[in-house]
Amino acid sequence: MDSMEALSPLFGIVLDAGSSHTNLYIYKWPAEKENDTGVVHQLQECQVKGPGISKYAQKTNEIDTYLAECMKMSTELIPASKHPETPVYLGATAGMRLLRMESEQAADRVLAEVSRSLRNYSFDFQGAKIITGQEEGAYGWITINYLLGKFTQKQGWLNLISADHQKEETFGALDLGGASTQITFVPLNSTIEAPENSLQFRLYGEDYTVYTHSFLCYGKDQALWQKLAKDVQASAIEFSSPHIWSSAPTSCCSPFVSSGGTLRDPCFHPGYKKVVNVSELYGTPCTKRFEKKLPFDQFQIQGTGDYEQCRQSILELFNNSYCPYSQCAFNGVFLPPLHGSFGAFSAFYFVMDFFKKMKEDSVSSPEKMTETLKSFCSKPWAEVKASNPKIKEKYLNEYCFSGAYILTLLLQGYNFTGSSWDQIRFMGKIEDSNAGWTLGYMLNLTNMIPAEQPLSPPLPHS
Ligand code: AMP
Repeated sequence: MDSMEALSPLFGIVLDAGSSHTNLYIYKWPAEKENDTGVVHQLQECQVKGPGISKYAQKTNEIDTYLAECMKMSTELIPASKHPETPVYLGATAGMRLLRMESEQAADRVLAEVSRSLRNYSFDFQGAKIITGQEEGAYGWITINYLLGKFTQKQGWLNLISADHQKEETFGALDLGGASTQITFVPLNSTIEAPENSLQFRLYGEDYTVYTHSFLCYGKDQALWQKLAKDVQASAIEFSSPHIWSSAPTSCCSPFVSSGGTLRDPCFHPGYKKVVNVSELYGTPCTKRFEKKLPFDQFQIQGTGDYEQCRQSILELFNNSYCPYSQCAFNGVFLPPLHGSFGAFSAFYFVMDFFKKMKEDSVSSPEKMTETLKSFCSKPWAEVKASNPKIKEKYLNEYCFSGAYILTLLLQGYNFTGSSWDQIRFMGKIEDSNAGWTLGYMLNLTNMIPAEQPLSPPLPHS
């Protein structure tokens, strides 16, 4: 038997029930080393087919089937003898936070059904819950720093004993989902002025004061709904008289002038068309502030591919006009000065990776990214499709908006600049493990991150 087999591995499963989809992760680690840093790694990832669980509120009977494929894969991959001791956790994020805002009953129904379904398997089901935005930020930060080895000491045991060691600088975490976005980092010497943004951790013998905030409705899908609701509202105001509604499009008014239910949208490629249901547009709490009685049930988006106008429209989603603290992100939310390097993952990574694959240096600075987006957004939709045949259309048609949104969020939302841009590393995985909140969540719930450095000093010389 080789030494790896002798280590008798343990397993854990976490389901990330995101707003747009659910991902299942299987983690593996050697039992004897569970308190060491960096020993837990991702063994497998499984993407559940279908939308996020919040879309199942009216069809909870389909949840068994929805989860079956990835759970079956887990059953087969993890040795049967380990099933009873393998914990399963499901954490739901902003999609479910939004559903709960609309209907607590509906959210409870979904969670109850998901729990019932997961209890049917031979694993040790530990619960399904909606995690808070703070938890999402904190666990994302723990995950990336655990995987990057930032919780270990820079120097050896001698320094530890003499208290001469140096704490590693941690990475900040930038997470962009469909419904929310999180920023989490250790600020430099500055006080965290808003208590709700402050987290205290003691990990492996070190204290950390961490800033975190989760912006609900500022994930990239909900930000797009906000933008559409805002622009269609503005157009509807201009065309509120029946006389004008029946007239042909003119170039008199806003860049988004609509006629008879069309919205000219600069964040989509010229030639791109899509019908939007007003009930869907107003079906999320994120668009409530722009809600208006519209004289149509549907409208058609027609892309115009104008990056500058797109960015201007996105900018209007960020309120930078008031700040009750010394410094803010946007919407009056406290943000200390940025400090150190940042790992940007989830949709930050997906979108930037798309542009990097087009051309390696396409997003290497805010200026480069602006140049890239100007040219990309203005490309006709037919051309974009033809040159990216392997990319799913539901993502492809939104890369212009998503790129412009990310640039605006980072610069005007989070206060990154041309010089701090270099501090952002867009990361999908670290080694074999996905960057995201799930690993940190499991490490915490299984008590695998000790507060104190495990003391196993080197054997004394005799
Ligand atoms: P969530 O479901 O809340 O975790 O959000 C994930 C976000 O990433 C959603 O906005 C998805 O549309 C987006 N996403 C997932 N895969 C891709 C991809 N390949 N390209 C662009 N966006 C993606």
